[in-house]
Amino acid sequence: MFALCVFVHTVCVWPLLTLLAPLAVASEYTHPVESCLGNILPVLVGPFVAGCNFATLQVWLWLRMLKTADAHCGYALPFSPFGFGPLNEARRHDFHHEKGVGSFGSFFKFWDQVCGTDSAYLSFRKKKEEKEAERKRI
Ligand SMILES: [Zn+2]
Repeated sequence: MFALCVFVHTVCVWPLLTLLAPLAVASEYTHPVESCLGNILPVLVGPFVAGCNFATLQVWLWLRMLKTADAHCGYALPFSPFGFGPLNEARRHDFHHEKGVGSFGSFFKFWDQVCGTDSAYLSFRKKKEEKEAERKRI
């Protein structure tokens, strides 16, 4: 699924996107190719492979939509339950949309860490933290 997301974003969808800054209200608005291959298929494969019941599927879809809204709201909310541990915080996804480089994982950051596709984000964060530290010294 991670490789599929990388393919959809770099080959199919990225040239078509004009909006760079994330908006929660627009997070469900996608190109039909991205919607099918990058949003619907990856979200539904797990529940169908696991054979979960309809109520569990509803809870999963509800959590997924909340995570999507959180990732696209434009804020790194400190109380967000979606920014801890292995979950991909909003800042990473914000960078993904704003710069168009790496950080492909939408729910987890695991595959970005394994594949090294978050190196641009990590470099960006390091430079930003260095600038903030220098600004505090002045
Ligand atoms: Zn997104």
